[in-house]
Amino acid sequence: MTSDGPPPRTAEMEPDELLEPDTATSSSPPAGRLAAASPDADSAAGAETRDVDATPGLSVKLDQLRAFYGEAEAVKGVDLEFRANEVTAIIGPSGCGKSTLVRCINRMHEEIPGAHAEGSVLLDDLNVYAGSVDVVAVRRAIGMVFQKPNPFPTMSIFDNVASGLRLSSRRRGERSKAAMGAKVESALRGAGLWEEVSERLTEAGAGLSGGQQQRLCIARSLAVDPEVILMDEPCSALDPIATLKIEELIAELKRRVTIVIVTHNMQQAARVADRTAFMLDGRLVEVGPTQDIFTKPSDARTEEYVTGKFG
Ligand code: ADP
Ligand code: MG
Repeated sequence: MTSDGPPPRTAEMEPDELLEPDTATSSSPPAGRLAAASPDADSAAGAETRDVDATPGLSVKLDQLRAFYGEAEAVKGVDLEFRANEVTAIIGPSGCGKSTLVRCINRMHEEIPGAHAEGSVLLDDLNVYAGSVDVVAVRRAIGMVFQKPNPFPTMSIFDNVASGLRLSSRRRGERSKAAMGAKVESALRGAGLWEEVSERLTEAGAGLSGGQQQRLCIARSLAVDPEVILMDEPCSALDPIATLKIEELIAELKRRVTIVIVTHNMQQAARVADRTAFMLDGRLVEVGPTQDIFTKPSDARTEEYVTGKFG
């Protein structure tokens, strides 16, 4: 990937961009909606509406995914598809491997000393574990929001959002002040935070409430135009009002990204998720439309869990 390379494209990150240059040229670009994206990425005006409509998310498919901490196997061969532009909730008792599984999706699991993953994770049709794949690019395409909001505390609200952009902007146009400002505003609007912070962009991120900080983290991941956002219990540190705001935001965000959300809150899964996956002891027990998982699961263990008999 060179800074003076191909013409700008709307999608900051397309699967073929995840590849090192030699393989990027030999792999055929994914068809359909990616090709339809507007070529006008750097112009500020109207970027927001266009982003929402023009660059939808991509599906993620786990194929016999296994994850280890040393010898201990925490995820034991999971096949699971997260459909594009849907919200999939992952539920299951503490320790069943939900966090480990989502950290495998953007290759963060392997950062833990002694940890490794096996099997494959396909973003659209690209295996993010393929040898030729750029791990940093994977983490831009597949953003992550954690349980505890983790903005850079002393950094300004503006810089918190711009930080990912500064690291990833390869084209000079994207680094210009005006382009950066437009991207930051668009990301903050996308995260439903702009109205609350537009007058205080230079203040420290730590000065925001917990719910605002979580939306700031969402804005930070949106700024680099991800395909997928992974959320690991994003509301468990928030009050009910802030939680509701994040849930409303998730419903908006799925128009532009694919969302995977780990939650301990059954009502939350029922409210936000199109599909729900139930895990137990490192394995997927079942996945299906959320309504079905809660009202007529096919496995007795799912029924026991969703009706509160264990976990
Ligand atoms: P969940 O998110 O469903 O509560 P986790 O993915 O955190 O589950 O944990 C799954 C299993 O992996 C548990 O047995 C847990 O103890 C183990 N585990 C999680 N993180 C680590 C780690 N950093 N080192 C070693 N074992 C871990
Ligand atoms: Mg967890």
